[in-house]
Amino acid sequence: MIHKRKIIILPGDGIGPEVTQWGRRTIETIGECYGHLFEFEEALIGHSAIQATGNPLPDETLAACRKADAILLGAVGDPMYDNNPKLKVRPEQGLLKIRKELGLYANLRPIKIFDELAHASSLKPEVLQGSDILFFRELTGGIYFGPQERIAEGDVAISTMIYSKDEVRRIAVKAFEAARTRRKILHSVDKANVLEASRLWREVIQEISPEYPDVTVHHMFVDNAAMQLIKNPKQFDVIVTENMFGDILTDEASQIAGSLGMLASASVGDQVGLYEPIHGSAPDIAGKGIANPLATILSVALMLDIAFGMKRESEAVIEAVDTVLKKGFRTGDIADPGTPKERILGTDAMGQKVLNEIQMAVSLVTGDR
Ligand code: NAD
Repeated sequence: MIHKRKIIILPGDGIGPEVTQWGRRTIETIGECYGHLFEFEEALIGHSAIQATGNPLPDETLAACRKADAILLGAVGDPMYDNNPKLKVRPEQGLLKIRKELGLYANLRPIKIFDELAHASSLKPEVLQGSDILFFRELTGGIYFGPQERIAEGDVAISTMIYSKDEVRRIAVKAFEAARTRRKILHSVDKANVLEASRLWREVIQEISPEYPDVTVHHMFVDNAAMQLIKNPKQFDVIVTENMFGDILTDEASQIAGSLGMLASASVGDQVGLYEPIHGSAPDIAGKGIANPLATILSVALMLDIAFGMKRESEAVIEAVDTVLKKGFRTGDIADPGTPKERILGTDAMGQKVLNEIQMAVSLVTGDR
C-alpha cells in the first residue's frame, strides 16, 4: 500500500503565499513523477492569523501541524509590528510558539554554493566554489534559555549557559547520522578551553563518536570556526554547535552564500519537522510577483530528504534548480548587471522552470518523452 504523506502549508505573510505556492507545486510534481501520494492542508500563522482570529498561532493550526508528516512555512511579519514595538500580539510569537510546542530542537541550515551564483558572495569565487556545508544548530537550550538576572542594584548582569548531556546527545546523533550520508566529516564547534558547558558538549561528542567509526570528527573552537568559514569553507561538511554559536555562525555562513532568496532551513525534533526559507516576509516586494521562490523550493528538497527519506527525489529538486541557474535564468535578487533582461524571471516563471526541469529529467530516465 502506498503511504500518503500529509503536509501542512503555512503561507504566512508578505511573499509567504507567493513562494509556498511553488513549494507545494514542487511537491505535487515530485508526487506525479515518482508515484508518491501527498495530501495538503493550509492553515494560518502570523499577521494573517492575527487578522482572522486575533491569535498568531491559532489552536487549529497547531492541532493540524501535530497530525501532519511535515510542515512547509513561508514567512511571518508585517511592517505594522516592525514600526510599533508596543503591540503585544505579534506575528513572530506564532513562530516561537510552534517551535516550542513541537519540540524543534535542531535547526538545520544547508549552505550550498551554486557555482553560477558564486559572484553574489563577498568572498572570491575560487575560495567558495564547491562549498557545501550543513549546519546543525541546537535551538532550544544554551545561554538563550538559561537563567538571567541583574544583581548589584542592576549594575551587574548574569546570563547562564546550561546544557544537559541528553540535550547535546540528541542533536549530536542527528548530526552524525547526516554526516554519514554525506562526506562523513563532522566539525563540532565549542569553546571548551574556557566554558564548562562546552567541555560537557565535547565530552558527549567524544562519547558518541565510536558509534560512528566512518565519520571523522574534528573539534574546533568557535573563534577559529568563524575564521575558517571565510578562509576555507570547502573544508566543512557537517557542523554541529550550540544555540548562540550556531546563531552567529549560520548568519555569517548565509552571507558566504550571497543571497537570502536561495537559503533553506529545517527545524526538527522527535515529531513533525518544519521546513522554511530563511528569508522573511519581504514586504517591500510582496504582491509584485518578483520574489525568488528557490529558497522555498530548496526547503522542499530538505523536507523530501529528512521527513520522507526520499533522497533521490530531493536530489532531483536540487539538480533542477542547478540546471535552471546553469541555463542562465535568474530572479531579480540574484541577477547581476550582465544578466540579459529576458533571463530575469518573476516568481511564477522561475517556479515553472524548475518544475519543467524536474519533469524533463524524469522523462529522460524513463524514456517517456
Ligand atoms: P526579509 O528577509 O523579509 O527581507 C530582507 C531583504 O531581502 C528585502 O529587501 C527583501 O525584498 C529581500 N528578500 C527576502 N526574501 C526574498 C526573496 N525570496 N526574493 C527576493 N528578495 C527577497 O527581512 P526583513 O526585511 O528584515 O524583514 C521583513 C519582515 O519579515 C519583518 O516583519 C520580519 O520580522 C520578518 N521576518 C520573518 C522571518 C521568518 O518568518 N522566519 C525571518 C526574518 C524576518
